Amino acid sequence: MSKTNWIEQEIENLKSQGLYNNIRTIGSPQGAWLVVDGKKVLNFCSNNYLGLANHPDLISASKNATGELGIGPAAVRSIAGTTTLHVELEKRIAKFKGVESAITFQSGFTANLAVVPALVGKEDVIFSDKLNHASIIDGCRLSGAKIIAYEHNDVKSLEEQIKNNLSQYRRALIITDGVFSMDGDVAPLPEIYEVAKKYDILLMVDDAHGEGVLGKGGRGIVDHFGLHGKVDVEVGTFSKAFGVVGGMIAGKSIIIEWLRQRGRPFLFSSAMTIPDTAACLAAIDLLEDSTQLVDKLWQNAKYFKAEMKNLGFNTGVSETPITPVMLGEAKLAQQFSKELFEAGVFAMAIGFPTVAQGKARIRVMISASHSKDDLDKGLEAFQSVGRNLQLFS
Ligand SMILES: *Cc1c(COP(=O)(O)O)cnc(C)c1O
Repeated sequence: MSKTNWIEQEIENLKSQGLYNNIRTIGSPQGAWLVVDGKKVLNFCSNNYLGLANHPDLISASKNATGELGIGPAAVRSIAGTTTLHVELEKRIAKFKGVESAITFQSGFTANLAVVPALVGKEDVIFSDKLNHASIIDGCRLSGAKIIAYEHNDVKSLEEQIKNNLSQYRRALIITDGVFSMDGDVAPLPEIYEVAKKYDILLMVDDAHGEGVLGKGGRGIVDHFGLHGKVDVEVGTFSKAFGVVGGMIAGKSIIIEWLRQRGRPFLFSSAMTIPDTAACLAAIDLLEDSTQLVDKLWQNAKYFKAEMKNLGFNTGVSETPITPVMLGEAKLAQQFSKELFEAGVFAMAIGFPTVAQGKARIRVMISASHSKDDLDKGLEAFQSVGRNLQLFS
């Protein structure tokens, strides 16, 4: 028996359960339409909320910066990897989000791996929403702190866990996603803040799907709820609405200063590249200039969700442009996605363990890059596949 035999068996298991990742290949720039595995399809899958992933301003900013400063940072931030562009991006992010200070990372994932272990350790406790993102969970595990999961978006459950456990630990941290990516619901941040204040606990929100989407002109969940200065740590990403790649943490200066000393991905993994950093700056310019793209995103999302309801689909509890189409069984969701693709619409089926058993769905990601005509084409495809699968007459 070979040393890797167990991997072959695990992969066979995944395949037989319908859980093996079959990865599709994109042969075009991001946008409302994509070439997927050689076929032109309507794109209902990307996190490209504002259509910035292929925006001419971002492309020219990154070309110009590359001409001036090259491509690679060639070092970690704390040695020789901090360019004028990185410094400028951090200043602009802090101003955009209305916080004292900000720091950038290679991704949202590494931002979470940086911040949690920098704030809590073995003698401490983390109160974490049950549905928090995998990168938060990994950051929590790395910290060595005790992790106590509270019921999803349930402030009573959070407070109960705090009352029962807080006194046994040195320090504490509350962590929640801002927008939950599978359902599109929003954390009750004002109520969570009240609890954090009552027990004097640090509060952290991961705003990956709220950045560029929620708040005035996409300033995020803290702006959306008017909680400026009250949330200690905001984690964000440049890979979703910003259309680039990279991560950020925004908040109080003292916390950001500490992350420059103790954020391990900052100290031990190279900086964001020059073209990415320049493209992020161009994205902030666009967002500060006008709320037009964010407005269009919400207009599209409202139209699509209302029309899906009219057709008889259940779009769950979403309050954001993330539109889950609840189908129940994983097999049905997979068949639905397959038939949509044949009808020219690219929308992924999501099943267990990403969502609970019996809660399989198609997740539609609406973007400002969709025209009304695109949305109507998508609605038509959903209706015809729904009829074909006898979900309604
Ligand atoms: C997507 C996502 C991340 C990871 O962001 P990347 O920049 O893609 O690494 C982190 N947290 C949440 C909540 C996310 O949705």
